[in-house]
Amino acid sequence: MKEDNEHVQRTIAEDNGQSRREFILTSALAVAGAGAAGILNPARAFGAESKNPSGQGNGPYPTEGMAAYSETGPLKLMKFQRRALGAKDVAIKIHYCGVCHSDIHTIHGDWGKIQYPQIVGHELAGEVLAVGSSVSKFNVGSRVGVGTMVDSCRHCPECLRGSENYCENGNTQTYGSKNRDGSITQGGYSKFVVVDEDFVVSIPDSIDLAEAGPLLCAGITVYSPLRHWNVAPGKRVAVLGLGGLGHLAVQLATALGAEVTVITTSPDKAEDARRFGAKDVLISKDGADFSKYKRAFDFILDTVPYQHDLDRFIPILKRDATLCRVGVGKLTTQNEYGQMTTVLSRTSLAGSNTGGIRETQEMLSFCALNKIKPQITKISMNEIDEAWSKVVAKKARYRFVIDMKA
Ligand SMILES: [Zn+2]
Ligand SMILES: [Zn+2]
Repeated sequence: MKEDNEHVQRTIAEDNGQSRREFILTSALAVAGAGAAGILNPARAFGAESKNPSGQGNGPYPTEGMAAYSETGPLKLMKFQRRALGAKDVAIKIHYCGVCHSDIHTIHGDWGKIQYPQIVGHELAGEVLAVGSSVSKFNVGSRVGVGTMVDSCRHCPECLRGSENYCENGNTQTYGSKNRDGSITQGGYSKFVVVDEDFVVSIPDSIDLAEAGPLLCAGITVYSPLRHWNVAPGKRVAVLGLGGLGHLAVQLATALGAEVTVITTSPDKAEDARRFGAKDVLISKDGADFSKYKRAFDFILDTVPYQHDLDRFIPILKRDATLCRVGVGKLTTQNEYGQMTTVLSRTSLAGSNTGGIRETQEMLSFCALNKIKPQITKISMNEIDEAWSKVVAKKARYRFVIDMKA
């Protein structure tokens, strides 16, 4: 059946018309399980006020995106399809998707072998085109976003407390994860997506859709640890690395009331760091001496996505303070630190992985209230390869966002 499905999917992807053959195949696919979970009320899903996204009724929906076919090759346009609308599903027209360093790590195989072709992207922002029969949080036209997850087990203690990002049974990532039907999830470098409403967030009206995407991975990834470690007025915080995550971390920590110092390897970012709210900027290069900052900081948020010298930074924490890593480099590269480093002042080395859906919604409200937004450069689908090279070369200022209409 699986092979049949793949054949059917290819056939439909190749032919976006409304032939009888396609209708039969589409119906067969829906019955086969691609969307059988929700028997829809078509009138509600595509009523007079609905904009039918593809002329495909309740789906599955043909769409296209930029896929990687190997670790190193250029991305190429891939036609594929999104599942039929289930009862709790929301069909979303993707307007924008942010470019995250994780996308590059994943395709390059830095985090393990993956299956190609793979479409990445987990900073999606767009508009609801159709809703399943029991969707309660969104309507056609709602401004919505999807971050790094599209499903989780829903019953483990982590899921029950709203920490789906730490699901004990492993959540379903927006790309590169196995769906319940065995297919691999395809991400947001595409024009259309179908997601369970529980993993869709609402974008506040005051946040531009193009600027919303980067908040959904970069934003929540730094917001969650800043809140967990109680960053607040009177606290001195160092943000290590001023990239996509770092430039949002500086703004968020400043809005939470902390005094922020940026530590960067790029001297030309000093002015930007201050514009984002940093009181001080330290340049980290080989042989840099930070001994004058010994025990200066209440918290360090380390956003550097590759192996680096932790012994240089842990000693600038106050006693009992924490350095939290949110950037992850190549998994085969160890990132060791000295035997004595944490012992001398009872410091902690920690890590944090994005945030739950409820916390993501809270973060969006916080950003709307405090007028926090990423500094973005819009690119077209055809400019992604070039943008990736700039991200790797630390030339992004500070987040590339793909405009699906461009
Ligand atoms: Zn990301
Ligand atoms: Zn779970």
